[in-house]
Amino acid sequence: MRAAADLTPSYHTLAHRTCLHPVTGVESTSRPIVHILPPETAGDSPSSCSFAAPRPARSGKVAILTTGTIFDVKRFSIHDGPGIRTTVFFKGCPLSCLWCHNPEGQRPEPELIFRANRCLGCGACVAVCCQGAISMDGDVPVTDSEKCKLCGACVEACYAEAREIAGREVTVAQLVSEIGRDIPFFDQSGGGVTISGGEPLFQKEFLLALLRECRRQEIHTALDTCGHASWEALDSVREYVDVFLYDLKVMDDRKHRKFTGVSNDQALDNLEALSQEGHSIVLRVPIVPGISDGEENIGETGALAAGLASVERVDLLPYHHTAIHKYAQLDKHYELRETRPPSDEQMTELAEALRRFGLPVQIGG
Ligand code: SF4
Ligand code: SF4
Repeated sequence: MRAAADLTPSYHTLAHRTCLHPVTGVESTSRPIVHILPPETAGDSPSSCSFAAPRPARSGKVAILTTGTIFDVKRFSIHDGPGIRTTVFFKGCPLSCLWCHNPEGQRPEPELIFRANRCLGCGACVAVCCQGAISMDGDVPVTDSEKCKLCGACVEACYAEAREIAGREVTVAQLVSEIGRDIPFFDQSGGGVTISGGEPLFQKEFLLALLRECRRQEIHTALDTCGHASWEALDSVREYVDVFLYDLKVMDDRKHRKFTGVSNDQALDNLEALSQEGHSIVLRVPIVPGISDGEENIGETGALAAGLASVERVDLLPYHHTAIHKYAQLDKHYELRETRPPSDEQMTELAEALRRFGLPVQIGG
């Protein structure tokens, strides 16, 4: 087991960037950028750099044209891995956790969001929908999802921004170009790209192509996964992942099935296999009152994590219901309406219980 103090250096190993001119491919030697490096690597003299732009593709042109569906790109995140991160949210997930904070990431295809609190009841959306999918019920537009073709006309027409389509198709090239703006922040903070969702492995070809392109451009990668995928899928991408943010929902399989919709067998097998292969792993455990905050679950989680040599830290993520409005926007029912977040005292006690297994533990991601 690595000590907590060892974590930072392992995260920063890709902070070195050999910068080439984006067109000529010639290595730059002027205008150095500042690299924040851990003490043991600071003497390695990272290459100087003139150009923040990503390097041009020399190969893998087909791969960078691979398309996938994402629903958000969040810049300047400090909770999704080391340093300053740009987090890409993939659409599609095989689980349906009752506490899911990103319900718009569950379905693989784009979907229409309606924010009733912004709607003015003007009817402009009804007028532009050539599918006849929207009708007014008093002042409220009601959309028939069977008829909707997701053309986006009503989104454009809605002055109040009450309508939005969650999900867009992008190529790896487009996405990496968008991410490329943040490379200077990655370099200065030891950050990089975090791929989240949804479940990124749900789009494994797209994930693989994106990870490869990030590696080619020397961008540090974190993969936020629930581990519910075939080992073949995980095996194909793991060499391009610098750190796994591995969600461990709840240890009891009966509860796991009940509250996420699937067994945890595959996730646990994959976790063990990743650890045996020596991958850097941060376990993420959601603390949901009445589901995963019990003594038994914490004990089993601690015993498991302590037995996995490459688990570097356990993050306890306190349940919150700030995403409840998203369920209404998607016309979904939120089951945990009555559940209250755990108190700070309870989170501290649970963290202490895990530390007794010799694990570095952090509250929050
Ligand atoms: S156009 Fe927008 S504000 Fe007007 S009725 Fe439709 S959703 Fe509401
Ligand atoms: S996205 Fe297009 S088809 Fe769907 S409700 Fe809006 S205008 Fe109609």
